[in-house]
Amino acid sequence: MKTLKTTVLCILFSTILSYSQNIQDIIDQVDLDRLTLTLNEFSGEQTTVVNGNTVTILNREQATNELAGDYLLEQLEALDNITVISQPFNTNGRNIIATQLGKTNPNDIYIVCAHYDTVADYCADDNASGTAAVLEIARILSTQCLDNTVIYALWDEEEIGLRGSSFFADLAASNGDNILGVLNMDMIGYDGDAVGQPGDNQFDIDYRNIAGSVAMKNDILSVLNTYTFDLSVVEVNPGTSASDHASFWFAGNGTTDAFSAVLVGESWETDDQTPFYHTSADRVSTLDLPYLHEMVKLVTGYMVTKGSLVALDNRVTQTTTMLSSNQSSATYQWFNCETDMPISGETNQSFTPSANGIYAVDVTSGSCTERSECLVFDTLGLDTFSSEELSVYPIPANNFITVEFSSEISTSLKLYDVSGKMVQENTTSDTIKLNISDLPQGIYFLNVKTDKKSGTYKIVKE
Ligand SMILES: [Zn+2]
Repeated sequence: MKTLKTTVLCILFSTILSYSQNIQDIIDQVDLDRLTLTLNEFSGEQTTVVNGNTVTILNREQATNELAGDYLLEQLEALDNITVISQPFNTNGRNIIATQLGKTNPNDIYIVCAHYDTVADYCADDNASGTAAVLEIARILSTQCLDNTVIYALWDEEEIGLRGSSFFADLAASNGDNILGVLNMDMIGYDGDAVGQPGDNQFDIDYRNIAGSVAMKNDILSVLNTYTFDLSVVEVNPGTSASDHASFWFAGNGTTDAFSAVLVGESWETDDQTPFYHTSADRVSTLDLPYLHEMVKLVTGYMVTKGSLVALDNRVTQTTTMLSSNQSSATYQWFNCETDMPISGETNQSFTPSANGIYAVDVTSGSCTERSECLVFDTLGLDTFSSEELSVYPIPANNFITVEFSSEISTSLKLYDVSGKMVQENTTSDTIKLNISDLPQGIYFLNVKTDKKSGTYKIVKE
């Protein structure tokens, strides 16, 4: 019996190992709940914690946005693999700049950016939307090795003359920095063609025939057409110069200093911009959050494509007894997330914990090291269910999985996909039918747990 189980597990893992993390996987990590939380915190709709204090970011106008800048610094400093600086450029003005160095071409730079200052209170669309997008993209990409350098930039004093971005662009021009593309997001959350209805999901790309900006626009269209987004593009040429991308078009002293840059945002071209522009009525409640989600997914897709994703899979697959890195042929170091310390001697692809805890793994190949998510491992010391006590059927299944118990017992049910992401959660004390009709086809793991027993069942959804 034991031998059989081991064989099944080996087959299971060799199936899982054939998956690798690709651009679509990265796009799928854009999380609307996180975006919405950032948006609410940054535009003063709810409290947040900055430097250990519970605060409300009431205003982000130029003379009073110190707290907003501190919030951005703290959010970015919490991420791995990036260097964060505060870049003052006059008495009140400071950009927040985070740099993730490329593993292969550190001098080839792509910038994703937004301004964080405002003209009034709240200003959710203009431009907490773009700011939240930059933070979300940084959160996701900073877990990945990229061949090229990506800079996450948040500009100050855009509203009073593009001052922060001009300072940065002129400095970059005089340094001869090899900036290959600047993607600016300014107002990316409003889509209101019919009041109370979902809009048409149109968005503008503003570009001009300056440096490689036309090619950059085409690269964004290529991402738009390669992956699936609920968006419809409106190309605008000559694009507006009324936001920070223009600082890169007009950097330094004329054409030889110009950089490739575009603006991505809601559609001014079709007169579908927020009616609350530059007022304190520009609130999160007026935004179309699913539209914002699509916009951030598109920009993430562009940035990870141009950043050039290194093919290393940092995901972990979990069973009741073991954690296993999805990446084969690498170097491994398992970590205890609670102490942030490496676990001595645990350097294999799989790790069998001797205690319940929260664990992650560093996976290294060449110059690239990526850490996995921290995973809760809490199934140790529990008996397994006998087949008389619990049965799970049918396998494979189309719409429903039946979990049948021989007696009433309080259980938690968690269904995971092969990447270890929980896709469904339930509690029951009786036989239950789980509806899996909305899930994509593939392999899943159902963990059934009481306070004394635990079992994980492989589910095949057809
Ligand atoms: Zn703006």
